[in-house]
Amino acid sequence: MKALYATVFLSLQFLFSFSSQNRKVLIIGIDGTRSDAFQQANTPHIDALLGTSTYSYSSWHTGITWSGPSWSTILTGVNWNKHGVTNNNFTGSNFNQYPPLPTLAKQIKPNLNCSIVAEWDPLIDDITNASWNRMVKVADGSNFPTADSAIIELQNPDIDLLFAYFDKVDLTGHTSTFSPSNPLYINAIQDVDSAVGKVLNALYARPTYANEDWLILVVTDHGGSSFFHGGNSNAERQIWWIASGDMVAHQQITQADPGTYSCGNNTVFDTTCVDLSLLKTSPVHADITVTALHYLIYDSGINPETRPEWNLDGKSWLINSTGVNELAEDKNISVFPNPVEGELTVSGLKFAAAKQMSIELFSMDGKKVFSTVPVSENISINTESFAKGIYLLKAGKVSKKIVIE
Ligand SMILES: [Zn+2]
Repeated sequence: MKALYATVFLSLQFLFSFSSQNRKVLIIGIDGTRSDAFQQANTPHIDALLGTSTYSYSSWHTGITWSGPSWSTILTGVNWNKHGVTNNNFTGSNFNQYPPLPTLAKQIKPNLNCSIVAEWDPLIDDITNASWNRMVKVADGSNFPTADSAIIELQNPDIDLLFAYFDKVDLTGHTSTFSPSNPLYINAIQDVDSAVGKVLNALYARPTYANEDWLILVVTDHGGSSFFHGGNSNAERQIWWIASGDMVAHQQITQADPGTYSCGNNTVFDTTCVDLSLLKTSPVHADITVTALHYLIYDSGINPETRPEWNLDGKSWLINSTGVNELAEDKNISVFPNPVEGELTVSGLKFAAAKQMSIELFSMDGKKVFSTVPVSENISINTESFAKGIYLLKAGKVSKKIVIE
């Protein structure tokens, strides 16, 4: 009888472990980091994401280059004519009509577990109607304490969405200039990268990581020029944007500037300066929430881009979403055994073989450990010489997580 109870109990645990949400999202926000300085700085931890990312160093700001309106767009998926924020006082905000990401996601999945860790209090106090389960305020510019708070959130087995925000780069720009030739500004970017590395390591160290699929988004809100931002210069508007995971294409986007809705001034929402066809393929702020939302609610079949009651402005960058990534691909790749010890078989590579595309295996730090061009639908990979751990197998635009034991 005891044995039977034990069996039933284990089975229930097994069921519960699979009924919880496996698609999870980490958003890292780094304030005030212009693209040229970000590319020049030594940022190994964030760079390690690029091999598994859709990313761009030419993401162009399409609104008001203040922090308030920028983060409002990043966290709601709508432009400032809808969320209403045009300054850092958040006057005129309309978050009841256009709520932030956790509130939108919970309309579909009420049990999602969502946290914010932020060094700038208005992200918690003034971006209202945001149904975060936990809100953690950290001293402005503190950097490593922010990482430590984010790590505590990532130790919660149930977390589904974490937004962690770092302000040190922006603060350094305001006191010493936003410039790639300012070593203090470059150092601040590198310090934040080190803190982000700690957060990412905590993510990879989750006991349940092998059964989870994380989408990691890293984004800045604006650049800067001299000691300031808020205007429309390229130094203020050219930013960068990273989405890493196995449901995004692994590609760099080099994109012409689609223009800005604040080309007249910061009180009139002006559509005449924006090239809407360029905007369709440009990675912009409003895409962050739409992509994250699409990922969190993916199995509901709802496409947030076209849900009328949400009226979002951003695009989803997930593979197979409408709009951005219409790709020919091998949708039925299977990988077995997984976990693997020794010989790994990959089958279903019809398209890859026909197009002579490389099949590549990446370790979690972004290093390519194996590459081959398949000559038939099946390949086998001898994994004996690879270190134990989690790898991503990339076949064209499709990727699969592999555990090597
Ligand atoms: Zn800012």
